[in-house]
Amino acid sequence: MRYISTRGDIRPIPFKETVLMGLAEDGGLILPEVIPQLKEADLERWRELSYPELALEVMGLFIDDIPREVLRDLIFRAYSSFTHPEICPVVKKGPVWILELFHGPTLAFKDVALQFLGNLFEYLLLEKGAKLNILGATSGDTGSAAIYGVKGRKNIKIFILFPHGRVSPVQALQMTTVPDENVFCLAIEGTFDDCQAIVKGIFGDLEFKRRYHLGAVNSINWARVLAQVVYYIWAYFRVSEAEGTLKVRFSVPTGNFGDIFAGYIARRMLGRERIERLILATNENDILTRFVNKGDYSLGRVTPTISPSMDIQIASNFERYLYYLYGEDPARVKEAMAEFSRTGRLSFAKEEIARVQEDFLSLSVSQEETLAMIARFYRETGYILDPHTAVGVKAGLHFRNGLPMICLATAHPAKFPEAVRQAIGRDPERPKALEGLEEKPRREIILPAELEKVKAFLAEKALI
Ligand SMILES: *Cc1c(COP(=O)(O)O)cnc(C)c1O
Repeated sequence: MRYISTRGDIRPIPFKETVLMGLAEDGGLILPEVIPQLKEADLERWRELSYPELALEVMGLFIDDIPREVLRDLIFRAYSSFTHPEICPVVKKGPVWILELFHGPTLAFKDVALQFLGNLFEYLLLEKGAKLNILGATSGDTGSAAIYGVKGRKNIKIFILFPHGRVSPVQALQMTTVPDENVFCLAIEGTFDDCQAIVKGIFGDLEFKRRYHLGAVNSINWARVLAQVVYYIWAYFRVSEAEGTLKVRFSVPTGNFGDIFAGYIARRMLGRERIERLILATNENDILTRFVNKGDYSLGRVTPTISPSMDIQIASNFERYLYYLYGEDPARVKEAMAEFSRTGRLSFAKEEIARVQEDFLSLSVSQEETLAMIARFYRETGYILDPHTAVGVKAGLHFRNGLPMICLATAHPAKFPEAVRQAIGRDPERPKALEGLEEKPRREIILPAELEKVKAFLAEKALI
């Protein structure tokens, strides 16, 4: 399998190169040359597999330049850090299925990809005798999940930018209490979009990027998207079997479009006759909902909410979907992205919107609705939703049409105790992973939202 850029200006590259490249060198995003279609025989065989076994099969279709035994080891070690024997259990709660993706070390779905990516980086660096400085922006969960993926590893340092004071206290603590010397938490005086713009700006300086061996972990990394494709297929098996149906829908609380894009790839692999549609759920930051419902992809202001990992306006994975919407035409993608950076908006023809709506249905859910959803779900099922998951469940219930609805639970409620307390008047149970967090020493560096200041810091600290 070879990989191309959405903007068409890199030569096709093998999987291993995509991992360390992150963003494509022409500024686009990396995609596989083809999306494999699953055959009935594969599906029959795969149904019986454990989560790591299934991951090996699914990822194996896209990775042909790592020996299978090695890949197997990277995958099995990644999921041995999960505390649930099924890794990503699917449970029926009231009228919906909940796909629990929060049993990894930082209690959010990003562990599913980043525990694997940490292993992959370590393996590739050892093989090449190379060093890597990981640079990423986070609105919360990515940072801690990335840090836990690579902390203490040789030949890697990690620099995580996050908006100072705008991630939940638990999330900030998870990042800043990691004692390993290769971890740098940079609290930026600005929004998440500022952090992301700085990271993009640094990666755009190719000379700097090369000199300091910079690599990405944020959701633009193809390997991350790929690792996430697995749980859609996994959950499809569990639910279609339990319900005795062929078709299901998924509801996905969405920020950067990474998770739901993995769902889109899974849907292309399984077919529309199995994953009928994906429900794209947003909070008040609704650019993607406006896109799906009205063909209006236009930049608004970031509104801070109780689901901060979705407080995003520029969805960095959106370009990947555009590539397919535009009939795999990189020239059109390039044109559109240039227009978007010029005007802050893209609009779409009726016919295109109709096609988008065959893939997605979308709802924007307000904070009041999110809190009410947590309260109602708790009352009716005894199950506590985190605010991100609640946004997805609200949208999932809105678009129920008789098909089984699988709602992705993207974080453990104990990561967002303030919102949960506000909704139901009690704290969620605190899992072991969070015990004693407040007592640990903290390490963070506060920096202004200025590209040059962050660059100077990197130049001083990076491995070279
Ligand atoms: C990152 C995150 C999301 C959004 O995922 P995207 O891939 O950015 O769409 C939703 N919920 C939680 C808890 C997250 O950490």
